[in-house]
Amino acid sequence: MNSSLLVNKATNTQSAIRLPVIGANWKLHKDLAETESFFEKFRSLVDDFGYCEVVICPPFLDVATAVSAAEQTTIHIGAQNLYWENDGAFTGEVSGEMIKASGCSHVIVGHSERRRYFGETDETVLKKLVAALEAGLTPIVCIGESERKNVESVLEKQFRCGIAPLSAEQFAKLIIAYEPIWAIGAGKTATPAIAAAAHRLIRGHVTKRLGAQAANQVRIIYGGSVKPDNAQSLMAQEEIDGFLVGGASLDAVSFAALVNLCKSEEKSESRINQSCNYV
Ligand code: PEP
Repeated sequence: MNSSLLVNKATNTQSAIRLPVIGANWKLHKDLAETESFFEKFRSLVDDFGYCEVVICPPFLDVATAVSAAEQTTIHIGAQNLYWENDGAFTGEVSGEMIKASGCSHVIVGHSERRRYFGETDETVLKKLVAALEAGLTPIVCIGESERKNVESVLEKQFRCGIAPLSAEQFAKLIIAYEPIWAIGAGKTATPAIAAAAHRLIRGHVTKRLGAQAANQVRIIYGGSVKPDNAQSLMAQEEIDGFLVGGASLDAVSFAALVNLCKSEEKSESRINQSCNYV
């Protein structure tokens, strides 16, 4: 990463330097043995995890293995989904409290595949956000348009109905992932300019709803076919605070390359200033 990035971000945000987030969404991939071997290799490829917030979200059945493989590191483990009730007759569901108790610190909420294949709506996304926050988890809430049209109205509605009803205190704890659906798993990344424009739009909604400080502090990460060879130009955008990565996160070498991209002298200093706010 260009070492001026942090300076730019610091200048831009004034009151907050946003620690980058590099998240892995493994979706329905990897069994226990594959999880173990990923961590063994990944840990050997990154000498310092402190330059960003690394969050790995395996399938539920791999969580315990991932949690123990991440011990003695600052790698965070997250779930890919949760249900909003804590217990009851909800066959097949997993609550935020259960996820927290399993050793996870984060949870993905409202991923486009959940919206598309499992009927999730902005309303259920909001319920899940509240449940995740009540359980003490950091939600990574996904929004994004399905086609490259109506971007503004889609993002506005998803923000207004799924996120904006949160209180300022609740909002301060979440991470937003801008994931244009046309770019997910498609090998077709948004250009840095397109992604940055969408991030600015989202940050503008945050400013209107919760003010400049909340907008300056919230991490907005990009997801959609991020790979080591396109990540640098995306990350160089002041607006982009990291990535949520699907395909490229399954390979320890390429995910480690994305994490290592966050390394720079300036970032080292920011980490010291910021880690207590986010970890
Ligand atoms: C995702 O699933 O959140 C994602 C961004 O996937 P990919 O990187 O494969 O496009």
